[in-house]
Amino acid sequence: MWRELLPVGRDSGSGGYRRYAWTGADAECRAWFEEQAEARGLVHEVDRNGNQWAWLGDPSQGDAVVTGSHLDSVPDGGAFDGPLGVVSSFAALDELRRRGVQFAKPLGIVNFGDEEGARFGLACVGSRLAGGQLTVEQAHRLTDGDGVTLPRAMEAAGYDPDGIGADPERLARIGAFVELHVEQGRALDLTGDAVGVASAIWPHGRWRFDFRGEANHAGTTRLVDRHDPMLPYAETVLAARREARLAGAVATFGKIAVEPNGVNAIPSLVRGWLDSRAADQEALDRVVGAVESAARDYAAAHGVDLDVVRESFTPVVEFDHALRDELARILGKDTDLTVPVLETGAGHDAGILSTSIPTAMLFVRNPTGVSHSPAEFAAEDDCLAGVHALTDVLEGLAT
Ligand SMILES: [Zn+2]
Repeated sequence: MWRELLPVGRDSGSGGYRRYAWTGADAECRAWFEEQAEARGLVHEVDRNGNQWAWLGDPSQGDAVVTGSHLDSVPDGGAFDGPLGVVSSFAALDELRRRGVQFAKPLGIVNFGDEEGARFGLACVGSRLAGGQLTVEQAHRLTDGDGVTLPRAMEAAGYDPDGIGADPERLARIGAFVELHVEQGRALDLTGDAVGVASAIWPHGRWRFDFRGEANHAGTTRLVDRHDPMLPYAETVLAARREARLAGAVATFGKIAVEPNGVNAIPSLVRGWLDSRAADQEALDRVVGAVESAARDYAAAHGVDLDVVRESFTPVVEFDHALRDELARILGKDTDLTVPVLETGAGHDAGILSTSIPTAMLFVRNPTGVSHSPAEFAAEDDCLAGVHALTDVLEGLAT
């Protein structure tokens, strides 16, 4: 499975993945998922929001146990973020069958659509739509860098966008959702464990900062006459770093758009996107509030206008305690080991779904902690440990 997925959507220059929602690479990933489902005699279906499901047993029976993740990527993403969870799900099912496990509940494997938000700027679109956290009106306004809206992109990929929206009946059939994911940090590497259980996801959001100045000639405009939006933007980037450090949080300007984007032109517009995350809501509010207020001061000092728009926000996620404890119990059953429980700054479909159904996450050790990069890595032994942990968990939950 890993070998089949490796070349899909991989950029030959960067070596990173560009599997964006509703593109050709995404379609190849989806076709692969359907093949895996069919090869195992599972019933394959695509829900109204474009999420893919593979079922063993009849989900309408209810109390289903579901596992899975996503197959899309960030720009030049790594091989593991998302696919490790989906591949491990199919591998765990194979192992459950090898063990001769008799299931008392329906078992599902899911590939959530557009988890990374690389194309439309909003993460977890598939699970947010299903859970009702993204309304149909909001979804219709999502537009990619080429001006293509989400419904048109779905349509171009051969899917009917008319049915998108909350899908409570489908989610009500699920009794537990477990997502396995490569860790996006070094906590497990530091504790020396191959696998851990998630406790919480930090609240996080994305804010767009539009600095509007005045385009002019880079050679002939005197410095004192300029309204250069790049300057307050640059100062704001530094302020974000400073405020995040003070609050024990993280803040990143990782995406920027410049107009007219000419080497010899003072910009008229600098648009930067702030991603910030913190352990609790109060700390996050403090960081973003301080960055915005600093940005306003810098903009005013340069005679530049500033608009700040919050584009997305996800509150803190505390994973279901009972399910989390059940996972730790199942995984610790035959050993004296205590399974490490860790919090994370990364968002996941499991976090979105946690408001509707009991969800839990397993993390697989990432020796460098690097993620959202072609250098993202997990050792084969650790991936196999992840598959075995997931197998035990599914056996414990579905029998
Ligand atoms: Zn992911």
